[in-house]
Parts: sequence; C-alpha cells; structure tokens
Amino acid sequence: MCLSIDLNRNHEPLNQRTEGVADAATILFNLPDYRVLSAATGAFGQRRVRVCATATPGCPDCGVVATRKHSSRVQRLRDVPVAGPVEVLWRKFRWFCAEGACPRKTFYESTTQVPRRARATRRLRDALVDAVIDSGRSAAETARAFGVSWWLVQKCLGLSAAALPDVNKSSPTRLGIDEHRFRSVRYFRDPNTNAWRRSEPWMTTIVDLDTGQVLAVVDGRDSSGVGDWLQARPLQWRLGVQVVAIDPSAAFRKALRMWLPRTAVAVDAFHLVKLANDALTQVRQRLTQETKGRRGRSGDPVWANRHLLMCGANTLSARAWDRLQTVFAVDDPTGRLEAAWHVKEQVRSLLHAGSLADAAVKRQALREAVQSAAQPETSRLWRTIERWWEPIEVMLITGATTAKVEANNTTIKNIKRRGRGFRNQSNYRSRILLTSARNSQA
Ligand SMILES: [Zn+2]
Repeated sequence: MCLSIDLNRNHEPLNQRTEGVADAATILFNLPDYRVLSAATGAFGQRRVRVCATATPGCPDCGVVATRKHSSRVQRLRDVPVAGPVEVLWRKFRWFCAEGACPRKTFYESTTQVPRRARATRRLRDALVDAVIDSGRSAAETARAFGVSWWLVQKCLGLSAAALPDVNKSSPTRLGIDEHRFRSVRYFRDPNTNAWRRSEPWMTTIVDLDTGQVLAVVDGRDSSGVGDWLQARPLQWRLGVQVVAIDPSAAFRKALRMWLPRTAVAVDAFHLVKLANDALTQVRQRLTQETKGRRGRSGDPVWANRHLLMCGANTLSARAWDRLQTVFAVDDPTGRLEAAWHVKEQVRSLLHAGSLADAAVKRQALREAVQSAAQPETSRLWRTIERWWEPIEVMLITGATTAKVEANNTTIKNIKRRGRGFRNQSNYRSRILLTSARNSQA
C-alpha cells in the first residue's frame, strides 16, 4: 500500500503564493527556506518527503537575482530524523543568469541550509556537532542515532574546529602550559636493534589563563613542540604575552626563553608542593629500609600515617597534630623524618609568602632547615627551589598558576574516556579545541 499526500501539484515555491502562510507539512518538517511538496509512505513503511527551496536565488558570480528556470533534478539530502528517519528529496532547480554580460549562463540554486556541493543539511551538521561536543556523546553513538556514517560526524567536527576563531587574532596576556598523556604507554620493537622500546605519547596543552580557553594542543612535552607553536605566532602576539605559568619543566622553560624572552615565567605552586611531598616520601621509605631492613607495613606508625605526613601543618586538627607528634616520638628514632617534614613545611610556607621580602626571609629559613636535615632528597629539593627562584617570585607577585590548564586536562580526560581512546591525533585535537571553545563561551 502506498499512501501519498500531494500538497501542491503545480510545485510553485511558497513566496509565489501567499507570503508567510505555510502548509501543515512544511511547518512540521521545519527546514528553513524549504517547502514540503509531498510526503509519502512507501511499501516498507519508509517515509519520503519531497521539498523545494522557497527563495529565488542570485547568480553565484554576478549576484543578479534569477527570473527564469532552466531545468531541475532531484537531490537526496541527509537530514535530521523528524519523528523517525525520513528520506528527503530536494527538487533542485537550475536557473538562467539574468545578467547578459555574466560569463556564467546557468547555475544550480543553493540555500543556507544546503550550500553548494553540500549533501547534508546545516541543521543536521549542527545537531551532530552539538551531540558530540555539548551532550558528550561519542562519535560512533551519534552516527548510529542519526543514521549517518561515522565519517560524516567526524567531518562535521573537523569543519567546525577549522571555523573556530584564529588564535593569531586573539591577544592573550597570560598563558598556562602543562602536559598530559594522550594515550596509554605502548611498547614497540625497534626495527634496527630488535629491542623493545617504551613509548609514552604526551601532548602539551596551551591555555589562555584569563578565559580558560585552550589555544593549542601540541605533540610531545619537549621544548620543540611548544617552541614550534610559539614560533608560528606573529611577533605582536608574542609581545603581548606578559606571564606564562608552567610546571617545573626545563623543556618548557627553554622554549619560553627562546620564543618569549621578555615574558615573565611563573612556576606553579602546586607542582612544587608535590616535589616537596615526594622528597618527604622518599626520605620515609629510605629510613624504613635503613632502620628495619624492609618496606613499611601497616603496623608501622610512620607507614600508617604516611598521608598525614603530607598534610599541611596549618590544616591539621588538634587530634591530627597529636597523632603526628606521636609518630615522630615513636617511629622516628633518628629524628631525620621530622627534619625532612620541617623542610616540606618550610616549602609550603615559602609558597604562601605575602611579599618578596617575606619570601626572602622564608628562603633563608628553608636553607637552614635543609642544612640541618642534611639528607640527599631534601638537598635535591633545595637545588630545584634555587634553580626556580625567579619563577617562584613571579608566581608570588602575579598569582599565575596552571590551575586552568589542569581544569582543561580533566575535560580532556573525559573526552578520551568517551571516545575510548583516540587513534587519530587531529580528531582528538579538534575535539579538545571545540569543547574548550564551547565551555569558555558558556
Ligand atoms: Zn551571473
């Protein structure tokens, strides 16, 4: 059985009839600039909607509005499901150009919804991008739900990312740089030596700290990835950057010294606190090995309170403070763990200094704490602090941190989880840039 409603047998565009009055099918179908000519149900229940454009087009070369039709053909359009899948057929006209001097004699009409050479409607493209970026659906699931191919979803995402505002036109004053792992660790066999090699695919995120928007995601975490990206920016753009916040990475610092020599570099306080905590943990593990000849166990007060050791002294409750004192009294016969703990506390207090003068005083106190601790781990920490002293001062003055980069790294992790990992780096990159642009707009 074939059921068909022919709404307008003479197939005249809407604007040649009563302007602004549309029929029920056109209202329900709701494709801007199009009118439904007929809707039919096929023998297998498939629905077929025939449409035509309502506006008279202008010539793509000279712009003169056409008056005379040449011919027509039927083009199949991919569109959003309207109450279920629909096959959309567009009766597309070829028009004569009304300008006699124009080299183009005839042309096919195009609309905002379906530009020249497009085979999918704009509303379908927008819906696919919204589903992946705003609603956080995977490309494969979106493709299934809309009845299109995975490649179309990916192509729409790529085009949308390419249409994002040009980074060179922005003028960020504060940047944040941090790395994240793009995929899990892989092992591959080196073809020359036939030995197994470990590969850790890292990528570096560059963020505008004022807007929180990701400006770029570059390969690797060495100086060349960031350096090449900075080199590609115009001089005016680079001169506009006043502060860059990084983690204590010599590679990033090298790239910044090369391409942003006049920019102040701030080191992120959180990463330095982590270094201090790591040093304390190493001291604890070494002392346990030295005094007990084994690893820490749950029966050892030091091991049981290993997380308490890393808490800031200013955040401890009275009970926690008592517990900490008991740990030092019972399970630290040499007093070296307590000395290392004081170094860690001194680093924390230094990073919260209110002024540069205050920081200088605290630096001196830290130096004394390190000298009295006299342990390799804390001495190494001291050397790192010394090496990064200037960026620490910049951090204290400007308050620039990589917190917004870390926030973006969380978003990036979610993108990775949703896609169950990415094999194509440029797809991955466009997904990150689009999501970040939407988030900062919101
Ligand atoms: Zn023309």
